[in-house]
Amino acid sequence: AGLPLFAAIRACNRDPARPFLETPEGRRMSYDDLFSATGRFANTLRDLGVAKGDRVAVQAQKSPEVVILLLACARIGAIFLPLNTAYTVAELDYFLGDAEPSLLVCDSAAREALAPVATRHGVSAIETLDAGGTGSLSDRAARFEADFNDADLGPDDLAAILYTSGTTGRSKGAMLSHANLVTNAQTLVDYWRFTGDDVLLHALPTFHTHGLFVATNTLLLAGGSMIFMEKFDADAIMAHMPRATTMMGVPTFYTRLLQHPGLTREASAHMRLFVSGSAPLLAETHRAFEAKTGHAILERYGMTETNMNTSNPYDGDRIPGTVGFPLPGVELRILEPETGAPCAVEEIGIIEVRGPNVFKGYWRNPGKTAEELRADGFFITGDLGKIDDRGYVHIVGRGKDLIITGGYNVYPKEIETEIDALDGVVESAVFGVAHPDFGEAVTAAVVLHEGATLDEASITGALADKLARFKQPKHVAIVQELPRNTMGKVQKNVLRETYADLFR
Ligand code: ATP
Ligand code: MG
Repeated sequence: AGLPLFAAIRACNRDPARPFLETPEGRRMSYDDLFSATGRFANTLRDLGVAKGDRVAVQAQKSPEVVILLLACARIGAIFLPLNTAYTVAELDYFLGDAEPSLLVCDSAAREALAPVATRHGVSAIETLDAGGTGSLSDRAARFEADFNDADLGPDDLAAILYTSGTTGRSKGAMLSHANLVTNAQTLVDYWRFTGDDVLLHALPTFHTHGLFVATNTLLLAGGSMIFMEKFDADAIMAHMPRATTMMGVPTFYTRLLQHPGLTREASAHMRLFVSGSAPLLAETHRAFEAKTGHAILERYGMTETNMNTSNPYDGDRIPGTVGFPLPGVELRILEPETGAPCAVEEIGIIEVRGPNVFKGYWRNPGKTAEELRADGFFITGDLGKIDDRGYVHIVGRGKDLIITGGYNVYPKEIETEIDALDGVVESAVFGVAHPDFGEAVTAAVVLHEGATLDEASITGALADKLARFKQPKHVAIVQELPRNTMGKVQKNVLRETYADLFR
């Protein structure tokens, strides 16, 4: 206990000959290979002038080298700072100015465009890392030895700054310590029963907490191996599933797998666990997946700032539409937004969490940190939720998505659940739009199954006797798809903008 990330991983891998990773392209690495590669990369970082506490910004295609670089940073005491591969040069300008890294690692195709931006923000070295793990960084590393003496690190030293997904506003840099990462991953190993025999299907991006920490650190602390895929591809997942035991995914992974003809009970017979998170999993997806495969998807709830907070149980009921119980060591409370009083069972309020998983604050943003991190250690998640009489936590949406119409609070999830239950509906998003009389008007965007004959009138008609009048949508837009960001999260701010003038 109390070990920094790399030492913790090495301590629980006593047999370095065991496999760590393979790719569909045929690369294979043992733990021994991994440990040597991290040593070479750590020596390279030192040679490039990276010191303890320095930021290493990384905007690179997913490859095993991204994981190696994360661990190399952990060994040298540098702060790993991954950036979404979709970010543009203008966005990088903001992040590099905010983070002031000493090294930028980027795709060789982006190098020329990024160099002036990086120089302007004092970045002293730029190296490249391309798909497949090639590039100047790996070339340099090949010239160094594998031996490296790890920096002396305490549990509160920072391992990473991770920017939030920017679903509700500008992304914020969450400072995560070695202890934040190690304690949470260890909890997940135990809670989800990971062992050295596990083979994880890894198809998530490596710039986000889900693919980087939840999936990778958990697997590494168990000493298991992974099938490491550049991106999600349903055919590839199905092709490798017979040798795998576990998968972690966002809800869209599951909806896409459900459309795959190969997804059957037999094809998934070797799997022991499917985990979903990052966005709400529709109860219908959960049921359809169980009907087809016999596996009840285990849904959990977490965020960049806190790692994982709650999980459905490994044994016992995994209840669709819930995110389960607070993880061991995590305290979770729900408070009334107006009074701050604790909510009763089934009462909706703002979720707060406290524990060794909770981050150290927002990078260079003490104002925002003070707003969301209380003096007593509780973090105000901004998510609305409730706890039912069996103790399961339900997420009902974000505080920022709460609709106040004619003075009444409307929780979008309640309306979405009713709409989703209609025959012919794939999914829906309910949001508030400025309205001259009501303040905000409940508005819905609905995606229909092919050939469904529903329209605005039939949907509002079907809701009329199910929902109080003030909750009924004042407008229903039939859309081809909902706007989503790279993590599969519905962007309600985009919907609010699109329909901003609806009632003007
Ligand atoms: P930003 O904070 O920049 O607006 P974000 O909150 O989407 O972006 P992340 O940290 O990636 O950035 O996501 C955390 C959020 O994802 C949680 O606060 C919660 O709203 C949502 N979330 C995660 N898991 C679940 C889940 N199982 N069900 C519902 N929502 C979830
Ligand atoms: Mg957030």
